[in-house]
Amino acid sequence: MRKPKVSSCPECGKTDAVVPILYGYPTDEAMAAAERDEIVLAGCMVGDLDPSYYCWRCLIAFEYARQLA
Ligand SMILES: [Zn+2]
Repeated sequence: MRKPKVSSCPECGKTDAVVPILYGYPTDEAMAAAERDEIVLAGCMVGDLDPSYYCWRCLIAFEYARQLA
């Protein structure tokens, strides 16, 4: 599986620990990717904000759609 394109983390400035956050009902492929820590499923972390990416190194979510709008 090709690495998805992601933004760099605002904390560490790198992309190697950054994964996309997926919203909505996950497909089988998405579930498998989440088990490999290649993406984060938003089901357990939906709040008032909708971050697009998550950094495993800094343990933060970032790039909020509402801030970009
Ligand atoms: Zn980071």
